[in-house]
Amino acid sequence: MMQYETTIGLEVHVQARTASKMFCGCANEFAGEPNTRVCPVCLGYPGVMPVINREAVNQTIMAGLMCSCQIADSSKFDRKNYYYPDMPKNYQISQYDLPICRDGGIEIGGIGFSGNPLPDKTIGLTRIHLEEDVAKSMHQGRWSVIDFNRAGVPLLEIVSEPEITTPDEAYAYLTVLKQIMQYAGVSDCDMEKGQMRCDVNISHRPAGEKELGTKIEIKNLNSFRAVHRSLEYEIERQVEILREGGILTQETRRWDDANGVTTLMRRKEEAHDYRYFPEPDLMPLLITDEWRREVSESMPEAPNTRRKRFIQEYGITEYDAQVLTQTKQLADYYEEACAGGGSRKLIANWVITELMSELNQKGLGITEAPVEAAKLGELVKLIDEQTISGKIAKTVFAEMMSSGASPAKIVEEKGLKQVSNADELSVIIEEVIRENPDPAEQYRGGAEKALQFLVGQVMKKTRGKANPQMAVKMLKESLK
Ligand SMILES: [Zn+2]
Repeated sequence: MMQYETTIGLEVHVQARTASKMFCGCANEFAGEPNTRVCPVCLGYPGVMPVINREAVNQTIMAGLMCSCQIADSSKFDRKNYYYPDMPKNYQISQYDLPICRDGGIEIGGIGFSGNPLPDKTIGLTRIHLEEDVAKSMHQGRWSVIDFNRAGVPLLEIVSEPEITTPDEAYAYLTVLKQIMQYAGVSDCDMEKGQMRCDVNISHRPAGEKELGTKIEIKNLNSFRAVHRSLEYEIERQVEILREGGILTQETRRWDDANGVTTLMRRKEEAHDYRYFPEPDLMPLLITDEWRREVSESMPEAPNTRRKRFIQEYGITEYDAQVLTQTKQLADYYEEACAGGGSRKLIANWVITELMSELNQKGLGITEAPVEAAKLGELVKLIDEQTISGKIAKTVFAEMMSSGASPAKIVEEKGLKQVSNADELSVIIEEVIRENPDPAEQYRGGAEKALQFLVGQVMKKTRGKANPQMAVKMLKESLK
């Protein structure tokens, strides 16, 4: 049977988080009363003059540097001409042949979508350019309505080389790209808020052939999961057609999430010719070495580098490192907690299992955590030093979550210190053996399980405060 190679390219749009819009002073915010953040510029009145938002250019340079792109010395904006209600001036200000960034790469690896390790690989970036977002059209019964609050919001278009070969790689690419944008301070990439939008193109060629196959685009993907599913579906569909001797035509398809299928949206003949030409109302954009340096000086460590460093420096697992570097704020939190000198692996555990699940339940982000990083580090240190047991630590943590108090103070005030005093423990152990003659006898006869029961009784009598290792050791001694 003929083997086919899958080639996938991604085109991602990310809204930059600037104070104002790309070419006017209107606020760049999400939602709100429709058509309240508008002016003649972003409404596309004739004769108005756009002004380049320097902060949006800064963020694009930052994004480019973090994706190892070449930053252009000289760039420009162009008019992309088309007629549609979401763009009443009949052109979008975008960038055609001189994007701000080109020739970059995004490193993927770590643990993939399916939970298996993904081999390290760099996906090439063709370009990152800056443009203005368009208005949002909505359909209400017989009416179509348009909200211009979004019109003119700075938008980064990030185009990958067709070097992705599986849905897992596409998923990983998007995950890393989102992380980079988040680390760079460009965007939270919240897809539900439309801060990140993604189009996919996919083609197949007979294995070994050089030339790419017919490109089919999929639009309307509103989650990374939808990207993964639609690619899985489309690979199967396209290979099946090819194997049956069919021909694929260049077309745009729509992802139907509910039914898990793609459907035809339009064929190539209906594609636009945008007749790009330089925007005459804007000067060329000159990016000096000094400007580039200024941006690069405030560039944070890339998420992938940080993930690898966490494994090396803190001795934590690949999985833990991946979770902890998901966002810059979470990674910062973890490192701050570690600074106190507690066990790094244990801190990773506490952040991932206890803290994050509590925050998820409360719907809070890491920056809103009621427990300060340093205090979580202190809590782990108390466990390390055997001042409290892991079990008691959960009680202390719950108290920290509600009051924000320091763990040492809570342990002191509530008398939660572990009983590690041999004299004190031996009294309790003798009591437990006396009160439970049957299990004691069973253990002497070789029933290991009976010991667990007796340890449980010791913990019960001390309200969980007995040092469990000591309790086991002393019980064994007494039952010899
Ligand atoms: Zn405006």
